Amino acid sequence: MDWLVDHGEKPFKAQQLFAWLYKHRELEFGNMSNLSKATQAKLGESFEVGALALENKQVSSDGTIKYLFRTQDGLFLETVLMSQDYGYSICVTSQLGCNMGCTFCASGILKKQRDLSCGEIVAQLLQAQRDLDGEEKRISHIVVMGIGEPFDNYDNVMDFINIANDDHGFGIGARHITISTCGVVPSIKRFADEQSQVNLAISLHAPNDELRSQLMPINNRYPLKSLMDSLRYYLSKNNRRLTFEYILIENVNDSIEQANELADLIRDLNAYVNLIPYNPVDEKGYKQSSKSSQLAFYDRLKRRKIQCTLRREQGQDIDAACGQLRAKKMKGLDYAS
Ligand code: SAH
Repeated sequence: MDWLVDHGEKPFKAQQLFAWLYKHRELEFGNMSNLSKATQAKLGESFEVGALALENKQVSSDGTIKYLFRTQDGLFLETVLMSQDYGYSICVTSQLGCNMGCTFCASGILKKQRDLSCGEIVAQLLQAQRDLDGEEKRISHIVVMGIGEPFDNYDNVMDFINIANDDHGFGIGARHITISTCGVVPSIKRFADEQSQVNLAISLHAPNDELRSQLMPINNRYPLKSLMDSLRYYLSKNNRRLTFEYILIENVNDSIEQANELADLIRDLNAYVNLIPYNPVDEKGYKQSSKSSQLAFYDRLKRRKIQCTLRREQGQDIDAACGQLRAKKMKGLDYAS
């Protein structure tokens, strides 16, 4: 809006522009018929709507859709759209590559090239919703769980969330939006202070510092004590339920003792644990826990009165696990070093 006013336009034009972009999902300024030709031209000179070009689309047998997009500077990112009982949920990418270095994750195979702009994160939602528009279906939920660490690109991710949530934007309820972090403590505190209704999920994956530091280097910087303190701070400021994500990797973090340790660690947080069978990544050598270990772990948490679910997998036949499609594409183009 400031830009429009600075360029001699009336503030209400901002609402019209938002409606064209986010309600009609119009990608050409020239087709925005209630804006004058002069305004259209001014916008066209300064902005581009199509921040991302669709490079590839794969549809899984279970209805999961994976998009590979190309940025204007020729880099690739992926977005996953999951068909759920309650509608469509989109998993957006927040950075090109990731520097967090989790040892089990495909995203970190390629280091971070740069943060995504707010416009590039919005474009993922816009393009996927445009794709569904023909079938009159709507994306109702967002998870910021694609490649990248959203709390390492805080401002752009929050701007994206505001547009997704705004009634003049996509109108997706804050409680239908989830941000997942590997545990960037200062950003958790900042997020706590915002008192947002957006859900917070923490990738925990290990119940003690020794193992967590092996799996997730961020734990060296922000060990469990500081992470847990930041979460208690969050809970003191927000009347919300926290979610922990815990991937189950065979013989690494899936024993009954570790389930007990996890229950001890989080029992006073009234949190929810999402158990996720690990999706093996070629280069990493980790295996998915056996079905019996998954169920035993789940049962133990339940017995310890921890609320949890064991997530079913989606999109396995289309490399929908974090970073897999992109990693393959980049390798094909000799970008991997
Ligand atoms: N950086 C953020 C969000 C991106 S990763 C975070 O760490 O939360 C989204 C989730 O997928 C994280 O919980 C991550 O640990 C998990 N993940 C990464 N690789 C995976 C794999 N191969 N199988 C299952 N989950 C994986």
